[in-house]
Amino acid sequence: MSGARVVIALGGNAIAPAGSGGTADEQTRNITAAMRLVADLVETGHEIVLTHGNGPQVGNLLLKNDLAKDVVPPMPLDWCVAQTQATIGFTMCTALEAELAARGRPVPVIPLVSRVRVDRDDPAFASPTKPVGRYLTDPEEVERQVQATGEHWARQGEKGWRRVVASPEPREPLDGQSLALVLEGGAIPIANGGGGVPMVRSEDGSLHGVEAVIDKDLAAVPLAHAVGAQRLLILTDVPGVATGFGTPEERWLDSVTAGELRGLQADGHFAAGSMAPKVEACARFVEGSTVVEPWAAIGDLDDITDVAAGSSGTQVERG
Ligand code: ADP
Ligand code: MG
Repeated sequence: MSGARVVIALGGNAIAPAGSGGTADEQTRNITAAMRLVADLVETGHEIVLTHGNGPQVGNLLLKNDLAKDVVPPMPLDWCVAQTQATIGFTMCTALEAELAARGRPVPVIPLVSRVRVDRDDPAFASPTKPVGRYLTDPEEVERQVQATGEHWARQGEKGWRRVVASPEPREPLDGQSLALVLEGGAIPIANGGGGVPMVRSEDGSLHGVEAVIDKDLAAVPLAHAVGAQRLLILTDVPGVATGFGTPEERWLDSVTAGELRGLQADGHFAAGSMAPKVEACARFVEGSTVVEPWAAIGDLDDITDVAAGSSGTQVERG
């Protein structure tokens, strides 16, 4: 589908693959490689809106906060999300603009520090489940951390404990008008990085950042709906969605309906925190879209052009 408006959600793996050290140079190299692939898609005539994860980057910031807390005040999570949006955004912007210019397509790329509204009474605030930041292995150290900060920490299997935070439902992008202006101007926006800065609205109408992180795949849905996208592409480090993932019965799906995905989800085929939110995002996108024939897809970043063309990855239709 050439010429379609497409929201592209890039996983943290595209920026800091597991096993890479995460220096600025390494992240810049990885982002540059990813932006070369994104530029291929722009060349095929798609109008794109980029969004991205920030898990490893926000984890590193939280660790720095912890280590430096006696010297500089630790910053709250909403600040950390905004900070990672900015650094990832300017790096993507620089790489993508350079790549497009080199191909004779000088298009401005505009990273937005973007906010997403969540509900103050979202049940996630009462039971935080999203692990962030470093692991601790000593239960006494965990206890000291909890006493000192009031944070919630939870055991994560063999590897120890991690801080857990609320991951509320994304309700609406708060920068929809800015996004519309960027698109009207023919530029490429980068929005909702790390799921967006989570904010609640008070009764007097004012907005306040909250101590939470929003899932970047779920947050891509209201973003895609707000810009009237025809397609949502979730690009990661596996060739799509599998049933029986990692088992001898593993089977990769090429085409499914939202209803079929929901059935498989209920049967426990998709891991919480990784594939489950991607699958849920695709189902929500096609079910809630008002465009004609909305499609979503999950696939490998390296196959981006084929995923967008429908010939690679798992394609999700409304059904
Ligand atoms: P990203 O950083 O791109 O958001 P995640 O690590 O959150 O990536 O999610 C992608 C991972 O989901 C894959 O690397 C894979 O290990 C895992 N995964 C879990 N269940 C499945 C499944 N059913 N099919 C495919 N991948 C799955
Ligand atoms: Mg993820």
